[in-house]
Amino acid sequence: MRKITIVGAGQAGLQLGIGLLDNGYDVTVVSNRTGQQIREGRVMSSQCMFGTALAHERNLGLDRWDADCPPVQGISFTVPDGTGGKAIDWASRLDASARSVDQRVKMPAWLEEFERRGGKVELRDADVDDLEFYARESDLVVVAAGKGEIAGLFERDAERSTFDTPQRALALTYVTGMKPRDEYSAVSFNMVPGVGEYFTFPALTTTGPCDIMVFEGVPGGPLDCWQGVTSPEQHLERSLEIVRTHLPWEAERCADLQLTDPNGVLAGRFPPTVRRPVGQLPSGAVILGLADVVVLNDPITGQGSNNASKCAASYLSSILEHGERPYDRAFMQETFERYWDYAQYVAAWTNALLGAPPEHVLKLLGTATNSPRIARRFTNGFDDPRDFFHWFMDPVAAESYLAAVAA
Ligand SMILES: Cc1cc2nc3c(=O)[nH]c(=O)nc-3n(C[C@H](O)[C@H](O)[C@H](O)COP(=O)(O)OP(=O)(O)OC[C@H]3O[C@@H](n4cnc5c(N)ncnc54)[C@H](O)[C@@H]3O)c2cc1C
Repeated sequence: MRKITIVGAGQAGLQLGIGLLDNGYDVTVVSNRTGQQIREGRVMSSQCMFGTALAHERNLGLDRWDADCPPVQGISFTVPDGTGGKAIDWASRLDASARSVDQRVKMPAWLEEFERRGGKVELRDADVDDLEFYARESDLVVVAAGKGEIAGLFERDAERSTFDTPQRALALTYVTGMKPRDEYSAVSFNMVPGVGEYFTFPALTTTGPCDIMVFEGVPGGPLDCWQGVTSPEQHLERSLEIVRTHLPWEAERCADLQLTDPNGVLAGRFPPTVRRPVGQLPSGAVILGLADVVVLNDPITGQGSNNASKCAASYLSSILEHGERPYDRAFMQETFERYWDYAQYVAAWTNALLGAPPEHVLKLLGTATNSPRIARRFTNGFDDPRDFFHWFMDPVAAESYLAAVAA
C-alpha cells in the first residue's frame, strides 16, 4: 500500500487525504491543532464555495451541512456614486447555490471522518526535521499548510507572481441579526473604487446560521483601519462605522447586529503569491506543495477554498493515474502544471480585480444593470473564472460581447 503524508488539515489537505483513503492509500495527516482547538479558535476565512467545488466535496461524501447551512443563491454588485447613492446596482442568481460552512465547523468534522475512514492524524507543528522524517517514511509528502510558515520552503515564483506586497487590508466579522436581502440570498458585493470592497453573505458557524462581513481595504485608505482595534466589540463597531460611512444601504441591514462569538473576528494582510510546487529538503528529498501553499490569492474574489478543493481533486486524479511509479520531481511538477492550467486564470482574474477597474470593465458592469444576460454571466463566472477570459478580461473581446448582447 502506498504511503502518503499530508502536512496541514485544512480544506485541501483533508479533502485530498480522504480521497486517497477511499482509494486504498495509507494516509497520515499532520495537523498543528486538534479538532477542538480549531473549533474553539479564531475564524480563518469566509470560505464561500460555489457549485463545482461543492461537487468535489459531495463526490467524497463530505457535504454534511446542506440542511443546516443557508444557501447563497446569487450575487449582487453595487458601486456607490460618491453622493450616498448607487452608480451601478444589479443582482443575478447563481445556477447552483453557493455555501459557506465555517472552517471551525467543517475541519473538526472532517478530521474525525478522516480517522473514521482509516486515516492517521499526527498532532504536530511540522518543521524541516519532521518533513525529513516523513520523506524517509512515506512514498510522497504533500504540504497543505496554507499560509503557515513552512510554505516558505517553496520558492516564490517571481514570473508567475504579480505582486510582492499585500494588496488589501483584510477583515472578517461574523454576525447574527443582519436583515436578509429581498427576494433571494446573495453575496452582496460592493466595490468602492480606490477605497476597497465590502461583501457579505449568509453562512453556517459554530453557533448556527450567521452572516459574514468581509472588508477589503486598499492599503493606506479609509478601510485600512484595523490597527488599534483590540477587542471583538471594537472590531464590530469599526465594521459598522465602515458600512455607515461608505455603504448606507448595507448599514440599513445592520441595525441589530451581534457578533456570533468573541472569535468571530479577524484582521490581517498577505501578499498574493505563486510558489514553485516542488520543495527540496536539506537531504535532497523533494516535497509537493498543495493549494494555498503554491497559489495564494487575495480573497477579493472568494476563490481560495474553491481553489483548494479543485487543487485537491486535481492532485487526487494525478496521484491515482500515476499508479505505482515513483513520485519524483517530474511527477510533482506535472501534477502542479495540470492544476495551474486552471488556477492561472483564477489568479489573473483575481489580480486584475485588485487594480483600478479599466474602462471596459466599468462599461460591462454598468451595462449589466439593464442586461440580465451580462449579470448572469458575471455571477456564474465565480464558479469557473476561466469564462472571464472570453469576454471580460480583454477590451476587444468585451466590445464584441457588448455588441452581440446589444444586437
Ligand atoms: C479574510 C479571508 C476571507 C476568505 N474568504 C474566502 C471565500 O469567501 N471563499 C473562498 O473560497 N476562500 C476564501 N478565503 C481563502 C480560503 O480560506 C483559503 O484559500 C483556504 O482555506 C486554503 O485552504 P488550504 O487547505 O490550502 O489551507 P488552510 O485552510 O489554511 O489549511 C492549512 C492548515 O495547515 C495547518 N498548518 C499550518 N502549518 C502547519 C504545520 N507546520 N504543521 C501542521 N499543520 C500546519 C493550519 O493550521 C491549517 O489548519 C479567504 C481567506 C481569508 C484570509
